Amino acid sequence: MEFGRLGGELSWSGVNSGIIRNRAAEPPTAQGDKKRPAPSGKKDYGFETRAIHAGAQPDPTTGARSTPIYQTTAYVFDDVDHAASLFNLHNFGYIYSRLTNPTVAVLEERVASLEGGRAAVAAASGHAAQFLVFATMLEPGDEFLASRNLYGGSLTQFGLSFKKLGWTCHFVDPQDPENFRRALTPKCKAIFVESLANPGGIVVDIEAIARVAHDAGLPLIVDNTMATPYLCRPIEFGADIVTHSTTKFLGGHGNAMGGIVVESGKFDWTQGGRFPSMTEPEPAYHGLRFYENFGDFAFTTKARAVALRDYGPSMAPMNAFLTITGVETLHVRMERHCGNAQAVAAFLAGDPRVAWVSYAGLDSSPYHGLACKYMRGGAGGAVFTFGVKGGYEAGVKLVESVGLFSHLANIGDTRSLILHPASTTHRQLTDEQRLAAGAGPDVIRLSIGLETAADLIADLDQALGS
Ligand code: PLP
Repeated sequence: MEFGRLGGELSWSGVNSGIIRNRAAEPPTAQGDKKRPAPSGKKDYGFETRAIHAGAQPDPTTGARSTPIYQTTAYVFDDVDHAASLFNLHNFGYIYSRLTNPTVAVLEERVASLEGGRAAVAAASGHAAQFLVFATMLEPGDEFLASRNLYGGSLTQFGLSFKKLGWTCHFVDPQDPENFRRALTPKCKAIFVESLANPGGIVVDIEAIARVAHDAGLPLIVDNTMATPYLCRPIEFGADIVTHSTTKFLGGHGNAMGGIVVESGKFDWTQGGRFPSMTEPEPAYHGLRFYENFGDFAFTTKARAVALRDYGPSMAPMNAFLTITGVETLHVRMERHCGNAQAVAAFLAGDPRVAWVSYAGLDSSPYHGLACKYMRGGAGGAVFTFGVKGGYEAGVKLVESVGLFSHLANIGDTRSLILHPASTTHRQLTDEQRLAAGAGPDVIRLSIGLETAADLIADLDQALGS
């Protein structure tokens, strides 16, 4: 039996929409024959409605309204034929939670809906999500381009750890999209950028970079962690794959690690014979060709059925539950995050103890024009950097003097966070790499939370000293 294109609307991240169930029979309902509401998450619902409902429905057995935590490692098969159909990918359903889990599937469908993508696969962390993307796409000896303005951990993942797997990353200054065209090599298989770059202030020209990628027959991968789909939906501007550290704003409460990969469903993987793992027979599945069989959700299907299955960085159901709960308030939280960040950035920009502020929400930012194009309401997000007068020592003193801000290496919490990248997240890099990544000795990174803006300003004011 063929699946994929024949399966029409299905994908693994659609298993919770009531389209497909693991068991052939209708499950009994806790409340007799009462009808359950129709599956939610229709494409024409607004963003806020989808943030709350996409991918979820009341539990068919108990009527539980919030998505249950399916804290199970495995799922009972109906019979041998049913098991065979799942293992052969002839049907989507649940086998083992390293591959699929009903709580995780709700999150996958929800984020795919918010990003305007076709399907998604969740992972244990943002880094695991990035690994799944490249493990699915690349062969040993392959190369890719990445913006040099990335989260420091991504710079080391791509530049050092991936090298050991035979994958070479060339870092490019994203300020001129044509730099990517100039850096292309015959072995390049993808371009990777952050929409709103960590540690802050830089917005990339997604549409122009997508054009460069597509002219070369390559997919554009966008890490949308800092912007979230509330501020920016990269697929609408030509991105083919979107990644997230859900640990940050999607979860939103600093209590659950996670990552996710969303595919647009629009990329043609046959181009130039560059992606054999998508187009050639897969030995682990009796010679199945993933792109031919699964079409517009082939990439996430392959990422799950091979990379996630074989390397194993799956998201825990508890973390999926916490992240789903966070996503339900994403739109409300992002409004407040951005409003507070705008107020704090404006205060710092007018303060004589501060050398500079890099926040794309300020009219004075060179990236404000791009923010107006790509970010909802021209917002600059909630994470940004500024330079404290007095350099490295002044930076260390500031992070040790705050009271309300927490000095730690994270972003996207309800609480406001502060970091001196040069002495923490970016300390493994060379001076040159630190400067290139916007993490010089005087740089302070803030992740603005949901507290009263005046309290945050007062805390920074006292910590900056006289
Ligand atoms: N991408 C960005 C923009 C990040 O800020 C981070 C972490 O800070 C990651 C990816 C990696 O995510 P995780 O820490 O969930 O592995």
